[in-house]
Amino acid sequence: MNRAMRFRIEPNKAQRELLEKTFGSCRFLYNRMLSDKMLSELTGERIKTTPAVYKKEFPWLREVDSLALCNVQLDLERAFRDYRKVPRRGRPRYKTKHHSRRSYTTNVVNGNIRIEGKKIRLPKVGMVRIRVHRDIHDSWILKSVTVVKESTGKYYASLLYELPERENQAKGKSREAGEKKYLGIDYAMDGLAVMSDGTKADYPKYFRQAEDKLAREQRKLSHCEKGSRNYEKQKRKVAVIHEKVKNQRKDFLHKLSRCLADEYDIIGVEDIDMRAMSRSLHFGKSVADNGYGMFRTMLSYKLEETGGELVKVDRFFPSSKRCCLCGRIKEDLTLSDRIYRCGCGNCIDRDVNAAINIRLETMRLIAS
Ligand SMILES: [Zn+2]
Repeated sequence: MNRAMRFRIEPNKAQRELLEKTFGSCRFLYNRMLSDKMLSELTGERIKTTPAVYKKEFPWLREVDSLALCNVQLDLERAFRDYRKVPRRGRPRYKTKHHSRRSYTTNVVNGNIRIEGKKIRLPKVGMVRIRVHRDIHDSWILKSVTVVKESTGKYYASLLYELPERENQAKGKSREAGEKKYLGIDYAMDGLAVMSDGTKADYPKYFRQAEDKLAREQRKLSHCEKGSRNYEKQKRKVAVIHEKVKNQRKDFLHKLSRCLADEYDIIGVEDIDMRAMSRSLHFGKSVADNGYGMFRTMLSYKLEETGGELVKVDRFFPSSKRCCLCGRIKEDLTLSDRIYRCGCGNCIDRDVNAAINIRLETMRLIAS
């Protein structure tokens, strides 16, 4: 089992220059390999595309982390594999200077990468200041690091750890099957989620305020003349707020999913395709940002760590239309009905009713 941790890093000027060079070299190599691969497809001639070949032709490639270049090759091979599997996604494309992500991935070999105090040692780059704001267990094994420069100009390192097997078992919950704690969660359009115990989870107020501010500044940006000085200034402003909103959301979701994973053994959610949903219903930012999808992913691995399980309930399961008390199906329920009223006397918040049904279905799935 793996776990990724993302931390801010603060490279000095010389280090920033080298990072910039590494991003550029990776992009250059990717494009070169891609064009050679396409050429060999066209001509049928076999062209060897390994970093070593290109290093001979372009000696300056040796100045950057060689494992980063190896990962470029793996990246491209993966892109071609994906393309062959799902052709409609299009063939791998060239990376442009202005629109591609500035990042590279490097691997740990013989402890060449490690955190020492407030710094991280990166190959070629040396000791870089890092802000480690989350606990890293001594038993975790660092596998790889991805260095990213965001559009705000800030640098981050994503550290990928492998968690030892025995730790999972030790932390596993020791409740018997009969006394496991179950929770059902329903996705809520106007908030985040509703739980089967009746509680509603929503983002804190400061997050909603930041979101509104982001929308305002984005509107302003759309009125700026593209390419003008004001445009560039506003673009940067939007990027900064955007990043803040993203971090706040992630932080909140981490905390919420941690609480739930610690408290419950089995959690049921709907298996809905968030992307399709935002496209077809134009639900707006809450869905588009996919906070809920992120939340489900976090729940899934946190439950796995604690010995629990995340269960996905079939998307055609009538969680909203069914009465959670008598099981009757209300076919004429519409999206605007906020209260679920049933002939059996049940009168309950629509989303809570759905969450309870998801919990019941989860229990049934686990039992069968
Ligand atoms: Zn009923």
